[in-house]
Amino acid sequence: MRKEILDRIHDGHQGINKCRERANQSVWWPRISKDIQDRVAACKHCLEKRPSQPTEPLLPTELPDRPFQKIGVDLLEFQGKHYLVMKDYYSRYIDIAYLSSTTAYAVICKMKNSFAHHGIPESVVSDNGTQVTSEEFRKFASDWNFQQQTSSPRFPQANGGAERAVDTAKAILRQDDIFLALLTYRAMPIPELGASPAELAFGRRLRTTLPSLPTNFTPRTVNHDQLRVKDEAFKAKQKFHHDRHRGAQQLPELQPGDPVLIKHDGQKEWKLPGEVTKMVAPRSYLVQTDKGPLRRNRRHLRYRSSDDSAGETNNTSGPVIVPDALRHSPEPQQTPTPAPDESPPPDEPTAHQPSSGGYHTRSGKAVVKPARFLQE
Ligand SMILES: [Zn+2]
Repeated sequence: MRKEILDRIHDGHQGINKCRERANQSVWWPRISKDIQDRVAACKHCLEKRPSQPTEPLLPTELPDRPFQKIGVDLLEFQGKHYLVMKDYYSRYIDIAYLSSTTAYAVICKMKNSFAHHGIPESVVSDNGTQVTSEEFRKFASDWNFQQQTSSPRFPQANGGAERAVDTAKAILRQDDIFLALLTYRAMPIPELGASPAELAFGRRLRTTLPSLPTNFTPRTVNHDQLRVKDEAFKAKQKFHHDRHRGAQQLPELQPGDPVLIKHDGQKEWKLPGEVTKMVAPRSYLVQTDKGPLRRNRRHLRYRSSDDSAGETNNTSGPVIVPDALRHSPEPQQTPTPAPDESPPPDEPTAHQPSSGGYHTRSGKAVVKPARFLQE
């Protein structure tokens, strides 16, 4: 009888508070509040239909110590053609290479070409594309002596720098003269940093179509300490805007053994259950599932018996529903070592950059895009 009433109270799949309110208007028995809580928590439908996790605050990446020490690579498909986009985390210098095929071999050839120009980076950050997880690529990394850092699959935007580079590359590829567009990007000063990608990368300005005094092209060294300060301020500003615009929320850390449900951005339901094996990087976890081990970003994991409505826990005995937000003590405020899959998307302020979160109208008025576009 009580079970039937509890089912009825939960008709329409409302949350715990609403169901309690509903019960208040008609029935009562001892511990009904707790029964309602258990009933809602056990509802499979509600578990599966909960919304996606909120965006987490940006974890700004640290500026590397020198140019071409750490680069991000990503594949880009544009108008039916494939390109490899490589970006230096220090200078924001970008290389775009046309790929006649998307095999590991083709990707490796383009990377070797780039490394021949700039030297071999110490580390290469990428998503988990099949090219970079191939045995061939691993051998390349080993032979050429660089480290591979991969990000969670299904979380491409975590590849931070390279992801933004992909947007910049698209804006460049859209133009009539893509080489002139690329040159302009590399030669144009980034206002917040006070230097262009080329200056940061090579210590000299690039000659463009604009008339300029020859002395402007005399090599000059960029002061690294000053750059670091500017870079930090720049990234802090980006983080502030990102976090505010998206209502970013820190999700609590998961522990080994935690039961979770998995959902990707494209999926509607939290269906695939799993158990956390370990944290492989900040916000990135290895999860054991029926389909085998999966690596997932925290945003795509939800503590299984948690409930969305924080503050719904009560102190009675029995199974207690712990909201995600209350499960573990708040994380320390200090910024953890940035994970490769969590690099922030540094802005690439170019004239044609449609993706830096906003743009200016002809009258110079700044227009900020709604946060939801930023992630695509
Ligand atoms: Zn329900």
